[in-house]
Amino acid sequence: MSTPDIPRLLSAQARWAQVPLKERAAILLRLHDLVLDRQDELMDAIQADTHKNRRSAFEEVMDVAITARYYAHRGPTLLRPRRARGALPLLTRTEVTREPLGIIGIISPWNYPLTLTLSEMLPALMAGNAILLKPDELGMRTARLGIALLSEIGIPRDLIQVLEGGAEAGTAVANNASFLMFTGSTRTARKVAATTGPRLIGLAAELGGKNPMIIAEDADIELAAHQAINACFSNSGQLCVSIERILLHRSIATEFTERFLALIKNMNIGPGPGWDIDMGGLITPAHLQHVDAFVRDAREQGAEILCGGHALPELGDTFYAPTVLRNVPESAKLYRNEVFGPVVYLETVASHAEAIARANDSDFGLNASVFGSRATAWSIAKQLESGSVNINEGYAATWGSIDAPHGGWKDSGLGGRHGASGLLHYTRPRTIAHQRGLTLGDGLPASTMTTLLKLGKHVLR
Ligand code: NAD
Repeated sequence: MSTPDIPRLLSAQARWAQVPLKERAAILLRLHDLVLDRQDELMDAIQADTHKNRRSAFEEVMDVAITARYYAHRGPTLLRPRRARGALPLLTRTEVTREPLGIIGIISPWNYPLTLTLSEMLPALMAGNAILLKPDELGMRTARLGIALLSEIGIPRDLIQVLEGGAEAGTAVANNASFLMFTGSTRTARKVAATTGPRLIGLAAELGGKNPMIIAEDADIELAAHQAINACFSNSGQLCVSIERILLHRSIATEFTERFLALIKNMNIGPGPGWDIDMGGLITPAHLQHVDAFVRDAREQGAEILCGGHALPELGDTFYAPTVLRNVPESAKLYRNEVFGPVVYLETVASHAEAIARANDSDFGLNASVFGSRATAWSIAKQLESGSVNINEGYAATWGSIDAPHGGWKDSGLGGRHGASGLLHYTRPRTIAHQRGLTLGDGLPASTMTTLLKLGKHVLR
């Protein structure tokens, strides 16, 4: 593991913070075109690191472009000083400035090695910070290429330091950052929080899920079955917002199941850069064993395997068949725990109320999906304990709504990313109030203040 050079990072940050907002934004915007122009090179690196299919790799490229565009366009407005209402109208002039925090620590997992390193850095850089980054060891090739692109657009080299390694490098990041953006498992987040807590620094944590999809009585079944393929098997199911359980209203359960299984049968699974490949491999053979152990446990406990449930060694040592289970007992490990692979189970429910109750009966609350008529789906969506809910879609509608916050409830996270808050959490506000004429601390009798307060109730809204 390399050791962070904090004085060097801080001096680069001090210089970067002097670069005008519009100039920082213009630099960020260059990345939008650069990643689109260099997409083949990026996707090759992502696929070499992760074995995912080309389309899933392209999703990462798109994410960086969208994030660069959003924060370049919105950043200057969100970050500029803003007037706030003063203590006394006309006599108190109050202004809030947004100052960078200093060094933003970023710890990333392996599943999206471009998005979760490069996109993650953009709002922090826009806000005037330096970066101390620890990518996952399995995504280093992609992370290095991403950082090289940042140099090409004009981000000073000294502004980003990368610590390579595992837990030890992550701990060094948490020990030196002024704010930590962590993406990974809930288990590791608790360890990281034990470092950031006593240091009294901010922590945003984007964690795992056991994400439900609800198919209501009045859903478009054809649409639901098609979208479920993407929602469950995109990136071979190694997606934090991936759907791992589908709750079917009993009136449509048979029709949906038949349609879903028929579509899975036609999936094109395999290695390589072909755009026609629907699903690639898993990250490592060890992760494949981890996924398979969940499935074996469920089978041993009586779950019915409707398709898959085995590796595909003829395709390579990381390929696992898309797997659908039914009648999974609550005692099976995968009933409540995240598998992080191409494995989903079906559950039939008697009513929408039961679907909502089951969906919410989880320690997690990252993502959910609902298929149904407009009225039914919105009504269900508003009752789900989940940071994001996609209607007639699996996960991309909320993820792609970058102007809106994206973060998990319950054990799925703390804070989040995207939107204004995904930028402003990398700053600290400074409030300056200039008092003129009347002073506040002394002078005014309580009776006058009482009259002013009563007046203020009606006037100051
Ligand atoms: P992980 O928690 O094992 O590792 C994540 C990162 O933390 C890695 O870089 C790892 O090296 C580092 N790390 C490990 N131990 C550490 C420690 N003690 N201190 C500091 N850093 C440490 O997670 P993973 O298996 O790599 O990733 C999969 C998990 O990430 C899944 O649960 C998935 O749902 C979640 N995830 C969430 C999101 C989201 O946005 N919510 C996105 C992607 C992945």
